[in-house]
Amino acid sequence: MMEKAYATIIEQVGEDLNREGLLDTPARAAKAMAYLTRGYHQNLEEVVNNALFPSDNSEMVLVKDIELYSLCEHHLLPFIGKAHVAYIPDGKVIGLSKIARIVDMYARRLQIQENMTKEIAEAIMSMTGAKGVGVVIEAKHMCMMMRGVEKQNGSMKTSMMLGTFRSKPETRAEFLSLLC
Ligand SMILES: [Zn+2]
Repeated sequence: MMEKAYATIIEQVGEDLNREGLLDTPARAAKAMAYLTRGYHQNLEEVVNNALFPSDNSEMVLVKDIELYSLCEHHLLPFIGKAHVAYIPDGKVIGLSKIARIVDMYARRLQIQENMTKEIAEAIMSMTGAKGVGVVIEAKHMCMMMRGVEKQNGSMKTSMMLGTFRSKPETRAEFLSLLC
């Protein structure tokens, strides 16, 4: 089905679907799109897979520079960047690789950066029961760089603060200073 849709797009841009280089393109593009949106077929429980461990650590845990690749829901063009995720545990910690997997699950969907930032923060909060969660995402948007205003160096920064990251200025400040 998606393969057919890509064949139509290729024709509509003025190409010849029978040109040798394009013969398998609808199938390949469909496969690539399915991969780029595989987050729709994942859920939090399965991604975290019980990697939650008891801990009496109540200091901030920060995972910086988590690469992310997403597609903007307005143009279906990529936006690419990094997520920084921090939380303050309340009795349990989550496997570090799971934080990256949670970021990936939400990035591999049609997204806007603002919503994705919030979804990631809320997911970490709900899975860990943390005292607070902070998420900062910086990304470059191809829909801005390749079309429209064509601003090559514009990057967008979004943040979401929950719990103590929202209520305690010193917690938020500690988080933000660790990102510099
Ligand atoms: Zn866009």
